[in-house]
Amino acid sequence: MPCELCDDTGWKPVDAIDATGVSVRRVVRCDCRRDLLGQQRLVAANIPKRYQHCTIASFTAYNESLEKAATHAAQIARAFPAVGKGLLLEGQPGVGKTHLAVAVLKQVVQTTGARGLFYDTRDLLRLIRSTYDPAIRTTELEVLRPVMSADLLVLDDLGAEKTSEWVEETMNLIVNTRYNERRLTIFTTNYKDIPDDTDPDSLLFRVGYRMRSRLHEMCESLVMDGADYREMPVNGGVDDLLMLWKARKRGTALPARSGRQARAQLRDQGQADLKWSGGRAGS
Ligand SMILES: [Zn+2]
Repeated sequence: MPCELCDDTGWKPVDAIDATGVSVRRVVRCDCRRDLLGQQRLVAANIPKRYQHCTIASFTAYNESLEKAATHAAQIARAFPAVGKGLLLEGQPGVGKTHLAVAVLKQVVQTTGARGLFYDTRDLLRLIRSTYDPAIRTTELEVLRPVMSADLLVLDDLGAEKTSEWVEETMNLIVNTRYNERRLTIFTTNYKDIPDDTDPDSLLFRVGYRMRSRLHEMCESLVMDGADYREMPVNGGVDDLLMLWKARKRGTALPARSGRQARAQLRDQGQADLKWSGGRAGS
């Protein structure tokens, strides 16, 4: 069946207002082609399988910081490409930073057909390093070019790679190029964005002064506070997340491979907390 909007030409007429305020008829890419392009671009976006299901709607925001982050992410996804600043999502492992970053990336690519790209920072550096051949610098550029020129880039887990001169230089090249060309980037990091270059847990310690100040210029910083969703029991829900979050805040977070018993204990403790907070949870 031919497309109703464009009769399969791929272009559809729209009425637009030109700069002088006169109504003019233009042709733009038809939705049918844009959807197809969006699908192809989504496949090319390099989103890891375990995050491919992530959407903004499926993000569980059960406290203020998570709600704020989700709202901000949704705004960017809706307004792209008319967005001035990217995002720096900061928070402990498992709070949903990558979920939100991928959700924005997916929505933007699907609805606008923009070239989006996802990279785990360490994987990216490993890839660049593996292609690095002093004799043929072009191979290095083959990896770098799409990273620098993607309309929207997600760099996951910034600071995970131990800093070296090479890492710093490479990361600065990527970020500066994107900054100069006003391309949107969403970063996630487990490190605290505090102005302390001696604390090994600070982003500054991990990425250096130059990178940090550039990040602040090109991104809105949002701190996400919450539980590690990977500790959530199978078929668990918001109540479990709230409980785990409170345990984490008390510093009694479960070790990565905790048993059923520890979880049951926490559940008892958590019930009291839940009552106290009125069991409030975002959608
Ligand atoms: Zn069409």
